[in-house]
Amino acid sequence: MSGYKANYHTHTTYCDGENSPEEIISEAVRLGMTELGFSGHSYTPADESYCMSREGMREYFDEIGTLRERYAGKIRILRGIEMDYFSDPEDYRYDWDHIICSCHYIKKDGDIFPVDESQDILTDACIRHYGGDIYSLIADYYTEAGNSADVVRAGCITAESSADAKLVIGHFDLITKFNEGGKLFDESDPRYEAAWKSALDRLCGTHGDDIVFEINTGAVSRGCRTAPYPSVSILKELARRGCRVILSSDSHDKSTLLYGFVEAERLAEEAGLRLLRTL
Ligand SMILES: [Zn+2]
Ligand SMILES: [Zn+2]
Repeated sequence: MSGYKANYHTHTTYCDGENSPEEIISEAVRLGMTELGFSGHSYTPADESYCMSREGMREYFDEIGTLRERYAGKIRILRGIEMDYFSDPEDYRYDWDHIICSCHYIKKDGDIFPVDESQDILTDACIRHYGGDIYSLIADYYTEAGNSADVVRAGCITAESSADAKLVIGHFDLITKFNEGGKLFDESDPRYEAAWKSALDRLCGTHGDDIVFEINTGAVSRGCRTAPYPSVSILKELARRGCRVILSSDSHDKSTLLYGFVEAERLAEEAGLRLLRTL
């Protein structure tokens, strides 16, 4: 078992997870975890299929707050959220401990499409909006990813909340979800590398030590991928830039709270990263 005993990316039945917050906390305590961060999916008006509802978010916020008090001394609970780039501005009214900044959609020509739903949806959107040029689609994805922390901070400032929230860059290269084996594009192509490097320039240049990247094992636990996000090349670049990195399981089921952390720790070490043990 991994010695890494914290996870800050956890979904519950308030969004698309399988377990209640308290069921998850019980399991975390049983596993000897030191810290547990909840990160329900923010409300995205364009797609209500997987996220919290507006009313559900109030209940979620209150319940996690109650549990945070109840379990103080046993485990440190963080009350967070996974914000999407296109989240409802209302979601920023709450005072979150941490915010995962994620890009699940691209907006193009008045349309909005998910990048992580299915390979068919992604390739259809690529044909429809980019004439089949996947590297143009990727450039738009990484423009969003590079701006994601700015968008979240601006949302917090406008709402006058979450001033001290820790920002975690969620599954930075989610655009590779269906690309194992280079099925859709070549990850060593200069256009691909330029896109993610310019996103890192933006994120690190503007936010520096205010942001943390995650090594996310969620897609591996759900059988969609064999390796966590982000790729080894990106991990090495994060190490070179001295970025702060945590492990996260993007757990949707209490059985996966620490999923794949042994392998993820090994990847981090090989890339030269020193993992952050607490947020
Ligand atoms: Zn996500
Ligand atoms: Zn998630």
